[in-house]
This record gives sequence, structure tokens and C-alpha cells, in this order.
Amino acid sequence: SVKAGIVGLPNVGKSTLFNAVVENGKAQAANFPFCTIEPNVGIVAVPDPRLSILSQLSKSHRVVPASIEFVDIAGLVKGASQGEGLGNKFLSHIREVDSILQVVRCFEDNDIVHVNGKIDPKSDIDVINLELIFSDLDQIDKRLEKVRKGKAKDAQSKLKEETERSALEKIQKLLMDGKPARSVPLTDFEKDSIRHLCLLTMKPIIYVANVAETDLSEPSSNPHVREVLRLASELQSGLVSISAQVESELTELPLEERIEYLKSLGVSESGLGNLIRETYDLLGLRTYFTSGEKETKAWTILAGMTAPQAAGVIHSDFEKGFIRAETVSYDDFVAAGSLAAAREKGLLRSEGKEYVVQEGDVMLFRFNV
Ligand code: GDP
Repeated sequence: SVKAGIVGLPNVGKSTLFNAVVENGKAQAANFPFCTIEPNVGIVAVPDPRLSILSQLSKSHRVVPASIEFVDIAGLVKGASQGEGLGNKFLSHIREVDSILQVVRCFEDNDIVHVNGKIDPKSDIDVINLELIFSDLDQIDKRLEKVRKGKAKDAQSKLKEETERSALEKIQKLLMDGKPARSVPLTDFEKDSIRHLCLLTMKPIIYVANVAETDLSEPSSNPHVREVLRLASELQSGLVSISAQVESELTELPLEERIEYLKSLGVSESGLGNLIRETYDLLGLRTYFTSGEKETKAWTILAGMTAPQAAGVIHSDFEKGFIRAETVSYDDFVAAGSLAAAREKGLLRSEGKEYVVQEGDVMLFRFNV
């Protein structure tokens, strides 16, 4: 599943948010077949109202939502890239995630010390960005040293080496100007050539503005949030306003009381759903479904994936032996009422290897084993 790493300075509300994620995951685990949760990993289902409708129509025995893994990466502090404390270990955790969620403190509370003495989103964001940049620079230096030695023997490997060197030099230059690697224009070949480095500043970031519950209904009334918004757009990143405290309180309430509580704060849903949707959007993720009597299941793919690639998400054999896909859009499926009815009405299309899977497609794969 998709992995999102939670980072941020101390005392900004990371653990509060992460614990809410874990509690939410536990509550869902009663209904969904999730694996065990590691201490710093929380798994939650991606809320999707289409799942229950499809499963009713298909009379499915079970529903399996897509899931997202949140990894708590505490300890990313000033000096982490220099290996201060356990910093380096935390940085290596970040290498494994698909996106970074940086919690930024936007709530005032005199009882809770801010590490820098005052609420200052710009400085918080700069500190973390700098650590990520330092770590990438360090990696790039080491790699460049190797690549510049030019060990490649044949023409093809020489070309590869050359591509990587050029990509590394471009990125190095911008990192030294304090800009993230994702802001560097690279060719597809260059991008591929440095993928193995898992550069931290290449990963998309979502800023999570942790606001007071009184700001939830209109976060932009808070000047700190406006500052985070300005920075997020400057850095081509996403922004979600959330109250970690409210998320944590929600998990302690019975389901039926949660809506009431949210209403009393002037919002209609929990911030976690928003955060998950924003992560999906930012990563360019899409959902397709399989739906039958056994189960209705949501599968996560990247935008632009073809039918065989999408089939490969279920099992690599499906991709290798792919023959064709029978597919119907979610809306057509619901209008027809079942896969069989969709077939009768000619709404079920037979698609080949080139077909690009669309958001909400309901798919049935034909393959050789
Ligand atoms: P971490 O160090 O970033 O993991 O921060 P914690 O989650 O441990 O939070 C630090 C302190 O801030 C704790 O006492 C939390 O209860 C408190 N806190 C977290 N979120 C909020 C919030 O939205 N509002 C207020 N007033 N306090 C919060």
C-alpha cells in the first residue's frame, strides 16, 4: 500500500496525529482484513463510498478498501543529516516512503513549548527542508564521486553513466541554492537514472497545518495557516488543515457521536479523510475496483497505468499472462445494477493491452497462466 511518513519538529502534534491514525486503524481492523500494526506504522482504510454501493449490488461477502500506511518518523530534528542523535536512522526511514507529511504547528498554547520559542511555520518548514537537502547533498556527493570515475565499459553503460552524472549535477546545483530536487527539470531518462537514490527532496510533501479546534471551520482565518499555504504553493506542495487534538478525541467517541462533535466544530468530516484524499491526489493515484460475490475490492494504481499494469497490482501473473480486460465505468455499473446487466446492455467493454485504466473502472481480467 501507499506509504506516507509523518515528520515535523518536536511538540507540533505528530504523535497525537499518529496515535489517532493508529486508533482509527484498530477500529477499522475489526471490519477489514488488515495485517498487524508495527509500533511506528499505522494502517488506515481509504474511505470510499463507492465500495459499499458496489458490494451491495454484487452481494459481496466482504469489502476490502484500499489502504494507506502512515509511518511515524519522529526524531527528524535540526542536525539530523549530520548524524546527530539517531537522525540518520530516521532519514533512512524517510527514504522508504512515497510521500512526506510535515506537521506544522499553527495552534497557540502557552503550556506547550515550541522548540524555537515561538510559532513560526516558515522557520519550521525551513529547518526540515534543510535537513532533507543536506542529506540529499551528502548522497549526491558520494554518488558523483563514483559516477565521475567512469567505470562503464560498453557504449550503453557509458550513456547511462553520462545521463546519471548530468542529472546529479543539475540537482546538486539547485540543492545548493536551497531548492528541492523535485523542482529540477529533468528528462525521463535522467529521472530514471537517479531513482535508485530515493532522494528525500524528490518526494512530494504535504504540509499538515495543525490548528486549534476553534480554527477548524475556517483555517485560513489563522495567519499561520495562511503562511503555510503561501509556502506550500511556492514549494509546489499540498496543504491540509487538521486538528490533531480533535482527531485524537474523535477516536474516543462512539461512531454516532463523532458526526455531532464535528458539527459542533462547524465541519462535516474528520480531517483524516481529507489528508488521505490529498495524499492520493498529490501522488497521482487512481482507484479501480473488482467486484463479485466473493468480494468488492479497491485497488490503487498510478494515473496512466495500462490494463496489464493494473492487473499486475493484483498479481504479477495477471500482468504476464494478460489477454484482455472486461471493464465498465462505476457509473454504468451502478446504472445497470450488476455486471451481468451491464454486459447485456453492451456497457461492458472488452479492452486490450493498450487500454489506460480510468478512475472508478470496474475490471474483470482475462489471462493465461
Ligand atoms: P510531537 O512531539 O510532535 O509528537 O507532539 P505531540 O503530539 O506529543 O504533542 C505535543 C503536545 O501538544 C501534547 O501535549 C499534545 O497534547 C499537544 N497538542 C497536539 N496537538 C494539539 C492541538 O491541536 N492543540 C493543542 N492545544 N495542543 C495540541
